[in-house]
Amino acid sequence: MAAIELRTAIPGPKSLALMARRHAAVPRGPFHAAPVFVDHGEGGRVVDVDGNTLLDFTGGLGALNVGYANPRVVEAVTAQARRFLHTCFHIAPYEPYVALAEKLNELTPGAFAKKTLLLNSGAEAVENAVKIARYATGRAGVVGFEHGFSGRTLLAMSLTSKVMPYKLGFGPFAPEVYRLPYPYHYRSGIADEGAFVDAAIAEMKSFFQTHVDPKQVACVVMELVLGEGGFVVAPRRYVEALNALCHEHGIVFVADEIQTGFGRTGKMFAVEHYELEPDLITTAKSLGAGMPISAVTGRAGLMDSVHVGGLGGTYGGNPLACAAALATIAELEEKNLAGRARALGEILRRRLAAIAARDPRLGELRGLGAMVAVELVKDPKTREPAKELTGALCARCAARGVLLIHAGTFGNVIRFLLPLTLSDAELEEGLDVIESELRAL
Ligand SMILES: *Cc1c(COP(=O)(O)O)cnc(C)c1O
Repeated sequence: MAAIELRTAIPGPKSLALMARRHAAVPRGPFHAAPVFVDHGEGGRVVDVDGNTLLDFTGGLGALNVGYANPRVVEAVTAQARRFLHTCFHIAPYEPYVALAEKLNELTPGAFAKKTLLLNSGAEAVENAVKIARYATGRAGVVGFEHGFSGRTLLAMSLTSKVMPYKLGFGPFAPEVYRLPYPYHYRSGIADEGAFVDAAIAEMKSFFQTHVDPKQVACVVMELVLGEGGFVVAPRRYVEALNALCHEHGIVFVADEIQTGFGRTGKMFAVEHYELEPDLITTAKSLGAGMPISAVTGRAGLMDSVHVGGLGGTYGGNPLACAAALATIAELEEKNLAGRARALGEILRRRLAAIAARDPRLGELRGLGAMVAVELVKDPKTREPAKELTGALCARCAARGVLLIHAGTFGNVIRFLLPLTLSDAELEEGLDVIESELRAL
């Protein structure tokens, strides 16, 4: 039986009425990938207020690796809600916070003693990783990447690369933020992979002469696979060279695993593909299966450098969110959802490669595990980004019951953030829709 079931046009009359209220009451700033209001969800499916069932291939923007309304997570949150919702960890601590810290210390790569700080959002995790790195090193400089995304608060936004919509009009930005070019092969103009990596490493070394001295840099914040930047996978040799440079100069290496984490790449964390042991790891999104929670996990000595009272917040590590995260991790481990990500990734690649063989607008297919994206171009030779096509494809797929999200600095990448609980049949059904809409465009 088909998963998608449309009973009205998308959006239906109830969604339209709610959207009118939304526009009257809420500023236009927050965007929507789809024009439907959700009633409930299960696994990879959402049912809207008009009774339409849609497939969500954005996984609630990357937060739902264990799917909508995962029963184990719902049960854990409900049980915690009956006991207490909040105390504030600074007022009176509680066990779930400690249990989650223990679990993340054990789960994250790095054969050294670790500690974990819990927060509310991805941006807050990045901000705190930078605070800790600055405190521990006594240095101010922070190095991010072109095409990188770190969130929307002042420091995170300063690190974020893409101007529109994230930065335009919101300055001045935080000082002492520097930006390395991301090793983005497809747009490098260098055909040979080895030559491209050599050039990228040379550029990285010269950056520390022409932009900032390494001795002034507290940390480098890197997404090993760009999230909002369009799922560009950093070459292993580049990452090793950067990590070696960080070690040589006492720079804290922060791996931002907010989008890559919790099985999406086919391993629990993307750093495992690189056999990298970062000093600090930031996590959020699929950590909480939709509950707002994030973490900074890393070397105990670094984490402990900050004085008592220097880190925290009213809600950081909220008990409901901790219960959700513990249940999420148990679910990921027991159901081997990282293995499932590899299987889903194979289907995605096979289907998209078949489409690309006939349709030259699919300029590049890339990713790790189920973290797969396709970059759409107007012409495979010029590689001019096909932003309008990408937007139109997302809109048309939503109208046919498949929620998609674009990515990339040029807005021309379709990225798949599948709930890893999706069945093969559901994935194939959604891909059929994408294929037919691409053909129609
Ligand atoms: C989403 C994201 C963030 C920001 O997370 P928020 O919870 O939206 O603040 C930071 N880094 C990466 C890599 C992300 O994908």
